[in-house]
Amino acid sequence: MTQDSCLFCRIAAGDLPAHVIHRDDRIVAFLDLHPIREGHALVIPRDHHVWFEDLPPGLATRITSCAQSIARAMKRLYDVPRVSMFYTGIHVAHAHAHVVPMHHVHDVTSLAYLAEGPDGFSAPPQLPADRMQDIARQLRDAI
Ligand SMILES: [Zn+2]
Repeated sequence: MTQDSCLFCRIAAGDLPAHVIHRDDRIVAFLDLHPIREGHALVIPRDHHVWFEDLPPGLATRITSCAQSIARAMKRLYDVPRVSMFYTGIHVAHAHAHVVPMHHVHDVTSLAYLAEGPDGFSAPPQLPADRMQDIARQLRDAI
């Protein structure tokens, strides 16, 4: 299942060049062309899926396992204390997990954590307990 117009389907098929670091029958991992840090990698399914939540569980596990291997390698290679993995669904509409070696606490961040500037790490404000209970109930009922 591929789409000719999809950049990542074409990379997965080998029709476009990429700096591949892992390839097997289900997934491909390659370097992000616009890295947050050197080594910033993407892990994608070879089949076209737009959203990570739509990945079959076995395929999602393969992507996560690959990202774990890359993360362990990044810790050795770059001597970083942590590696981040996340899906955003931005830029290319083909599910892709980012794997980023974190040299700084704000290498992968939110404006909510930056209220004290880039040298601080702000805890976003807490919500009232009753609001938290409502949110938790809504999510429990929805899953
Ligand atoms: Zn695709």
